[in-house]
Amino acid sequence: MEPIHIIGAGLAGSEAAWQITRAGVPVVLHEMRPEVATFAHRTGDCAEMVCSNSFRSDDDRMNAVGQLHWEMRAADGLIMQMAARHRLPAGGALAVDRDAFSQAVTQALRNEPLVSFQPGEIRELPTEGRWIIATGPLTSAALGQSIRALTGEGSLAFFDAIAPIVHADSIDMSICWRQSRYDKGDTEEERTAYINCPMTREDYDGFIDALLAAEKTEFHEGEAGSSPDPTPYFDGCLPIEIMAERGRDTLRHGPMKPVGLTNAHRPEEKPYAVVQLRRDNALGTLYNIVGFQTKMKYGAQVDVFRRIPGLHNASFARLGGIHRNTFLNSPRLIDDRLRLRSHPNLRFAGQVTGVEGYVESAAMGLLAGRMAAAEALGRDLPPPPATTSMGALVNHITGGADAKTFQPMNVNFGLYPPLEEMRGGRKGRKDRYPAYTDRAKADFNQWLAGQV
Ligand SMILES: Cc1cc2nc3c(=O)[nH]c(=O)nc-3n(C[C@H](O)[C@H](O)[C@H](O)COP(=O)(O)OP(=O)(O)OC[C@H]3O[C@@H](n4cnc5c(N)ncnc54)[C@H](O)[C@@H]3O)c2cc1C
Repeated sequence: MEPIHIIGAGLAGSEAAWQITRAGVPVVLHEMRPEVATFAHRTGDCAEMVCSNSFRSDDDRMNAVGQLHWEMRAADGLIMQMAARHRLPAGGALAVDRDAFSQAVTQALRNEPLVSFQPGEIRELPTEGRWIIATGPLTSAALGQSIRALTGEGSLAFFDAIAPIVHADSIDMSICWRQSRYDKGDTEEERTAYINCPMTREDYDGFIDALLAAEKTEFHEGEAGSSPDPTPYFDGCLPIEIMAERGRDTLRHGPMKPVGLTNAHRPEEKPYAVVQLRRDNALGTLYNIVGFQTKMKYGAQVDVFRRIPGLHNASFARLGGIHRNTFLNSPRLIDDRLRLRSHPNLRFAGQVTGVEGYVESAAMGLLAGRMAAAEALGRDLPPPPATTSMGALVNHITGGADAKTFQPMNVNFGLYPPLEEMRGGRKGRKDRYPAYTDRAKADFNQWLAGQV
């Protein structure tokens, strides 16, 4: 049988290789390290964890990433098996001894007779055969250029510029209102597409002071300027704190301008500034804060953003950031089988598909591996239902997210289809989250059962 080729033996590529061999299909794994280095990896091992040694919460009842762990275990995932073997005490989190973990993943793949390793960088997208591209956030420059040449200008980003994303049900609508600037749009839905948070002069001054004083993170050495496109963020997506440093009123004349908006609760009062949130998913459960990409530290972001009127109790699906990160415009380019629409022999997996994080990347590897193996055996494997963590992620990156504003995403319950009968808001969580994960487990088991 023709082997399936995988480019990149990171979290996603390693998991994909393992899943393919479980189906009895041979794999060739192409990895450029250690010959070609990245600024973040230190070794030549598979599945190296480049920063934190944690796979985050292991709570499969109250947490969407814990539920994703559960699904990967249920699907015989290599990453979860080796994480369990090298687990370190870390409260409710799944933390590991990183070197022992990645050496164990490497050994498991080397012991597998269906896997052959072919060291070296792949500089161009192949035209023949079945391939999975799992080259991650630090995809080599040559391959990045080749992907961009095939998929078109603007289809591949080399940096993310993530504005924080808020759970819609944590926004205080007794303070905020829905309206698009100048009521633009042909339908009522378009005219009310944004949620607006009004600020008085006092609110604005306090906000700017907090922003300027907040702790910021720096780029890692080699991170900025090492991509095919050496300008990380200076075209249209400046961090808000840099804008604030350029002048106290810069934000008020930029993303926080109050023009074309009337406070529905106090129409006679003209806000001094307005923070706008834009719908982030088709379900309408998530909203991003428009233009608020930032390099503030996570703790500081929560403090600063909760100062915004209407966001005092905001719960964040993800916080903002700007990092070196190669990722596709997946909603436009790939189908729900993770194939490039224009070249279905090329599948993508891992962070390059626009998911974010070790676990999410490995999960997309698991899925791409299973789907590619099924296809090699003459079958078609649909993704898991959107009611599961894995299915919710695929659904988001290949359809649920808006292609125009697409930025990488962590798994979170905001991606799940809501349970109509459950109470919303923070107070409803203790009933809602277990109901989500019970439904996810039943649906995931059913998806797995359909594959035997
Ligand atoms: C600096 C930094 C810090 C991060 N910190 C965290 C964190 O703390 N927690 C977290 O959950 N996530 C973190 N991430 C995100 C993390 O990288 C991903 O979540 C995860 O590693 C992605 O898995 P992946 O398999 O998609 O990519 P990777 O694990 O990076 O694997 C991709 C592999 O492809 C190889 N490769 C690239 N190009 C080629 C080529 N042309 N030919 C052959 N091989 C190639 C690379 O060498 C690499 O081994 C961080 C990312 C970066 C860049």
